[in-house]
Amino acid sequence: MLRRVTIKFASLILVALLAALAWTFVKRPLPVPEVAGPVVPDAIAVEGVSLSMIRGAEMTSREAFSVRGGSLLKQFITGIGAFVVEHPRGILLIDAGVGRDVTAHLGTTPLLMRALAELTVRQPTIDALSARGVEASDLGGIVLTHSHWDHVSGLADLRSVPVWITPEELAYARSDDEGGKLYRELEAAAPFELHEPSFTSGPYGPFDESQDFYGDGSVVIVPMPGHTPGSVGVFVTDASGKRALIIGDTSWTKEGVDWPAEKPWLARRMVDSDAKAVRDQLVLLHQLQQANPELLIIPAHDARVHEAIAEF
Ligand SMILES: [Zn+2]
Repeated sequence: MLRRVTIKFASLILVALLAALAWTFVKRPLPVPEVAGPVVPDAIAVEGVSLSMIRGAEMTSREAFSVRGGSLLKQFITGIGAFVVEHPRGILLIDAGVGRDVTAHLGTTPLLMRALAELTVRQPTIDALSARGVEASDLGGIVLTHSHWDHVSGLADLRSVPVWITPEELAYARSDDEGGKLYRELEAAAPFELHEPSFTSGPYGPFDESQDFYGDGSVVIVPMPGHTPGSVGVFVTDASGKRALIIGDTSWTKEGVDWPAEKPWLARRMVDSDAKAVRDQLVLLHQLQQANPELLIIPAHDARVHEAIAEF
């Protein structure tokens, strides 16, 4: 009798736990205050500036694992790559994309993450550059949106290129957090030439501080802490005046900004450093998009949004 009651009780607990887990996948858009969104300064078109992308690899998973409220039936393609800004003063990468050893690099991530997605390598950043006759020595720098494995993998083949990373991000990457494991391994093998964004160019739209990278308004770095302590976003305005904002992993999906909605609980637990800060950023980005509909907000991994950017 006691045994039967115990089994019944255990089953009830299990059902309750499963229900609680299922709830974390239910769509719950974040509340947005009813105030007009922030407007960004007029876009400055600089001749010779373009934004393109090296599509390094893809991971296939489910939309439900990528944004809270996403469908379990819909496939979600996680694009991994490097964004390329060609500027009269040089070529700048935003994130390093995929390295030649990316499959080994994937091994530095938690087992659950590897279990939920399958990696297909398309082209390492270094090879995509070489195919266009660009050598590592031709690059002016790499701005890291943050230090997670799928943003730094390509650094392994681009050792001589100066890297821009915030002090907060560097401290995080060098801490014992699992998210910085690959960065630490790469840095232990050989140090990088590191630079800090200066954030002395004043406010930019809703962001309190910024760094106007070339001093001409074409590339503007802004702090975007949350996903990791030192994450940044990067505005890029091309020669036609079209402006994009690369938001790293603040959201993995466009829906994260459109609805707005955070990642599901399990994903947040695995990858987000400060869930509350991410929610604040998502609401801000949502308002920014409402007030600036022509702005292309680019989550680093939403392959559907990447379609809007030319292949390097
Ligand atoms: Zn990340």
